[in-house]
Amino acid sequence: MGKTRLIDENGLRSDGRRADELRPIKIEVGTLENANGSAYIEQGKCKILAAVYGPHEAHPRHLTQPDRAILRCRYHMAPFSVPERKSPAPSRREIELSKVIRESLEPVVMTELFPRTMIDIFIEVLQADGGTRCVGLTAASLALADAGIPLRGLVCACAAGKVDGQIVLDLNDLEDKEGEADCPIAFIPQLNVFSLLQMDGLMLAEEYEKAVNLALEGCRRIYEMQIEAIKKKYREAKAEDNNQ
Ligand code: ADP
Repeated sequence: MGKTRLIDENGLRSDGRRADELRPIKIEVGTLENANGSAYIEQGKCKILAAVYGPHEAHPRHLTQPDRAILRCRYHMAPFSVPERKSPAPSRREIELSKVIRESLEPVVMTELFPRTMIDIFIEVLQADGGTRCVGLTAASLALADAGIPLRGLVCACAAGKVDGQIVLDLNDLEDKEGEADCPIAFIPQLNVFSLLQMDGLMLAEEYEKAVNLALEGCRRIYEMQIEAIKKKYREAKAEDNNQ
């Protein structure tokens, strides 16, 4: 068990949430003017922006695939996203997360429709507070949809973990660092498949099952918010067209 007490006698967590509560979420689609697609998410204290360019000509050229587009993903934490200035150079962790996120998005993108091209996905963590790979994935999938890239579904991501012996949803940074375990997952409702299942820390097999089910419930709630955010963007775009 962690050194700090993370759940009080009333069952409330360090930020006042109950075990099965998500952090407050705000989603905006189409935040950026210059990218082909974009999305911005605030989840608790996490603030993450995702942008998509493409499909465009692949460069370097030798990466070109004759039968499909290739996805390129960069997950990056801004130097000011954490309490101690982070080097802007990509760390090993960021390189690994870029790969993990790309692989979690690949099942939904219809790359076969755009042979010999490349789709660029940029995830910029403006403020980090635990669970950034999940929030980044949720935002990136919306940015792909906003870019008009044909998708088989949306990817929604959420973590659950073990804190003070309890299974809790959507860990914040303190819970991530002081808790016993963290399981980030990504789920594609339209395909009914997981595209990410990870675990950091230690828990029993039955606790893991409980955590994955709780994270899945979190993903389903986030999915509803993703759909609502896309609809909102189109409602606003339509209202603007009507005013012109
Ligand atoms: P995730 O953000 O997906 O949970 P990790 O488990 O690797 O990924 O990181 C957990 C949290 O640790 C991050 O969300 C962030 O709040 C914090 N963190 C990551 N890198 C740094 C860093 N260089 N300095 C300070 N905090 C960091």
